[in-house]
Amino acid sequence: MRFDSGDWDGAVAALTEAHRVAVACHVNPDGDALGSLLAASLGLAQLGKEVAASWGGSSVEVPFSFSFLPGTDLLVAPGDLPEPDVFLALDCGAAHRLGALEEVAKASPCVINVDHHPGNDNFGDLNVVVTTVSSTAEMVTRLLQDLGVTLDEDMATCLYVGIVTDTGRFQYSNSTPDTLRLAADLLSLGADAPFIAQEVYESAPFGSLKLMGRVLDRAVLHEEERFVYSWITLADLAETGVAADETDGLIDAVRSTRAADVAALFKEQDDGNWRVSMRSKGPSVGEVARARGGGGHELAAGFTADEREATAASIVAELRSR
Ligand code: AMP
Ligand code: MN
Ligand code: MN
Repeated sequence: MRFDSGDWDGAVAALTEAHRVAVACHVNPDGDALGSLLAASLGLAQLGKEVAASWGGSSVEVPFSFSFLPGTDLLVAPGDLPEPDVFLALDCGAAHRLGALEEVAKASPCVINVDHHPGNDNFGDLNVVVTTVSSTAEMVTRLLQDLGVTLDEDMATCLYVGIVTDTGRFQYSNSTPDTLRLAADLLSLGADAPFIAQEVYESAPFGSLKLMGRVLDRAVLHEEERFVYSWITLADLAETGVAADETDGLIDAVRSTRAADVAALFKEQDDGNWRVSMRSKGPSVGEVARARGGGGHELAAGFTADEREATAASIVAELRSR
């Protein structure tokens, strides 16, 4: 058993016995979701399993900054995911984070939920939820080791990407000595840290400089509540030529002022709603997100809202009343 998780051994046993495994991560996948998805898929394929990987979006197009990741040949469109013996859900804090694949999971004989989000709703038949680790990738590494997979350079690359992105390049409090030791092991296996850093953090299109200019220029500061927020409209994306899945890093620019502890970035969606990314240097934003139907970690969370300014005002009021 690892991480004191009761279902750990059961998960290892179920995956060992399975012939066909469907591996999935959350919608709008980030580096941890993609890295975990691809590493797990590569590892299970090495064991001779029939593996298909996907997530519940309209397509499985990998965001440009992660397109260098190995294992993408194992991706299938969500509609093409075959009925598996085991459905392995990665980095999903709740069943609804599977999006369109939630139904596929429900129809599967065995769902394994491997995740690190506090408040995970334990939607699996087997739940391996560890909130003290940096990333789902950290758990996938141990899972693959216990399954007898020989970790190779490709898997190490995917796993390192999961860790480096979820720890904010080893900056956040979830980056422990164990996390850094594991990252070092992955480098020994061949993960190329400077190459990965360039691909993930320095491969934005030129237009995203202009988009960042807009986001920073219109940022609003609530000095007393130490809250800063900004937004990206669909028009901003069209005019700067930036894809919606290439806007993940912008919240890090918004949060970088010493004038605020809590930052939010509102992103307009095709359906008129706003996806809200929140980051904090202390006060719980997990609570803010959960109260609005979303979720995440205490210091990094998200939710969807139908109005921008009213939602920003409600966050200000909530921060003031704490
Ligand atoms: P993001 O701002 O999209 O990078 O998300 C930050 C954290 O919040 C990640 O751990 C996400 O998995 C989680 N998160 C974001 N949006 C949602 C949502 N709508 N529901 C639940 N969790 C979310
Ligand atoms: Mn994630
Ligand atoms: Mn994660």
